[in-house]
Amino acid sequence: MNKQEWESICRQCGKCCYEKVDLGAGEIIYTSEPCVHLDTSTKLCKVYNNRQVEEPDCIELTESLVRSLNWLPPDCAYVEYIRRQDTLAAVKKAEESAKRKRNSKRRH
Ligand code: SF4
Repeated sequence: MNKQEWESICRQCGKCCYEKVDLGAGEIIYTSEPCVHLDTSTKLCKVYNNRQVEEPDCIELTESLVRSLNWLPPDCAYVEYIRRQDTLAAVKKAEESAKRKRNSKRRH
């Protein structure tokens, strides 16, 4: 998947662009305070192309980051995408395993 395809997954809800409080033990609370660069009417970042320079805390999401971060909203399009990919991979693995078992029983 290229960068453009990856970025097109985001549904630009802006939910991840609100300040968060880490309470520890995996508990994250979102505040009602948006990032200073979020246009709350369009839900778009006003400095998107330069966001990591304007806001050093802002991170560029990658697949491995989405897997490791615990603060993305559960309905974030990236979180849903990863969950779907993992489900498809688990189904494929189970199907292959069942096929292998079936084939080995035929040989006996
Ligand atoms: S929460 Fe996810 S889908 Fe929404 S803006 Fe952030 S990255 Fe995009």
